[in-house]
Amino acid sequence: MNLAFKEPATPARSLDSIAEALLLPTGIDGVYARTAMFEQVVGGLMTLISRHCEPDAEVLRFPPVMSRRQVEKSGYLKSFPHFLGCVCCLGGTEAEVNAAADRSDNGGDWTSALAAADLVLSPAACYPVYPLVASRGAVPAKGLTFDVACDCFRREPSKMLDRLQSFRMREYVRIGTPEQVDEFRRAWMTKAQGIANQLALPWQIDNASDPFFGRGGKLMAMSQVEQALKFELLVPIRSADQPTACMSFNYHRDHFGTAWSLRTERGEVAHTGCVAFGIDRLALAMFATHGIDLPHWPVAVRRALSL
Ligand code: 5GP
Ligand code: ZN
Repeated sequence: MNLAFKEPATPARSLDSIAEALLLPTGIDGVYARTAMFEQVVGGLMTLISRHCEPDAEVLRFPPVMSRRQVEKSGYLKSFPHFLGCVCCLGGTEAEVNAAADRSDNGGDWTSALAAADLVLSPAACYPVYPLVASRGAVPAKGLTFDVACDCFRREPSKMLDRLQSFRMREYVRIGTPEQVDEFRRAWMTKAQGIANQLALPWQIDNASDPFFGRGGKLMAMSQVEQALKFELLVPIRSADQPTACMSFNYHRDHFGTAWSLRTERGEVAHTGCVAFGIDRLALAMFATHGIDLPHWPVAVRRALSL
């Protein structure tokens, strides 16, 4: 599927011209301080997305770190080892900790004394949901829906403002039978187009794949496309030629169900899917499309964002 842009596709503003009003450098590529104006739009987007939340969805807000063991068991380390950030801390005796800290004082390397903790930086908002559901027993017949969010980390340093190392992700997650997950994903692909239209964003939806690691990863990506397991809603942020994925619609089949022994009430392996909103990218898309003069954004857009 490749739907053409529904609005003029060239971003109205170049990112460089609006960057200093939105995202301030911290000295690390892909890590920015967000301005009040940027956060105003982020808040509006979160509220707008909440308005589409299904009534029986369970809301969970996760911290930016999660269990290292859970990420390993989910298969992330096999598929995306190049993105994963692991929390490392100083341990040992007081003398050892002091010695490491003192090395830093003298311009030396203190990091060699670090040991991996039982935490990683969350790479996506939905990963902690599956083990949590598994701990509760069988998935009820009507399936489960979650509304989750967290700050995510992926080790992809870049100078481009739409490629961050630390960014916010909101997701709706569905767990149940293949039919329930398929229906959820289809419905969300339609609803998401409505949201993009409300925001007066130019968009297109395309088949996509995840950036799996290495040579073996290329095969996995091809198979993902062949099976139509991932679609993305793309918006021109950098340019019309290279539109940026602002939302994704994912069908994991039985991947997480098998990893976590998730079962339906009938005893079958549960299937899962999620729709992910890249909140920082969506906010950036709004500024690239409508400029940085919020009071002059189209009235309907301001209303949609409660601005
Ligand atoms: P996915 O899990 O599909 O790769 O990511 C879900 C959503 O998170 C993407 O559609 C995108 O909007 C957002 N996202 C992924 N990578 C980045 C990134 O490097 N920077 C930003 N700002 N958002 C990202
Ligand atoms: Zn997800």
